[in-house]
Amino acid sequence: MGPPGSGKGTLSALCVERFGWYQLSTGNLCRDHIQKNTDLGKQIKEAINKGELVNDHVIADMVKEWIVSQDTMPEAIIFDGYPRTKTQAELLYKLLQDVMVDSELVLIKLHVDADIIAERILSRVSCSNKKCQRVYSLMNNSQAKSKSLMICDDCKSPLKKRSDDTQDALKNRIQIYYNHEQEILNFYVNKGMNVGMINAAQTVQDVFNDFTKFAEHKDYVC
Ligand code: AMP
Repeated sequence: MGPPGSGKGTLSALCVERFGWYQLSTGNLCRDHIQKNTDLGKQIKEAINKGELVNDHVIADMVKEWIVSQDTMPEAIIFDGYPRTKTQAELLYKLLQDVMVDSELVLIKLHVDADIIAERILSRVSCSNKKCQRVYSLMNNSQAKSKSLMICDDCKSPLKKRSDDTQDALKNRIQIYYNHEQEILNFYVNKGMNVGMINAAQTVQDVFNDFTKFAEHKDYVC
């Protein structure tokens, strides 16, 4: 969990690259539907562009479909941007009990202040190649700057700005995130789970190091 711009996608991508884990980003699944112009894509486009949440059950169905369509299961799956409401937290809990009986759910919260979020999001661009989607920053002093302007280092596709990375949508997205955060945390804490806290204002490498320590030792902070 973490507000927009806390680095969930960046951390997930590193875990995929270094550990071979799978990333399930509900935001990416939504954007796939929009890009392919599916019926669902047409339905959810407006909500996404305004920074609003997509219906809980629509998202939960996407997640279930993704899980059951995997041929193999990795050591871990990162749920990136899911759950985002208490209902989604309940649906995920139930889904894992039903279809991944032996799984263990671990909750990690990336904490970062609002001024840093805005700076990151408004300078964020990502690779337009659906199979890549690497995220970059346009900030001059950023480690995540691409080598060539607006071209992906990895696959050489053009970079583009997300349609919801605007000032108006961002305000909405941050507000919505904080409206739901505590309820989700309470739901899982009441189920007896601990929550890992990571300072996401650090460099990508430091966030990854803290995450790795956490994953190895389950050294919960909160
Ligand atoms: P993200 O890429 O995670 O920032 O998600 C982008 C947008 O997709 C969000 O602002 C929502 O409009 C939608 N979305 C992604 N994940 C969810 C979710 N779990 N529940 C509802 N809407 C979502």
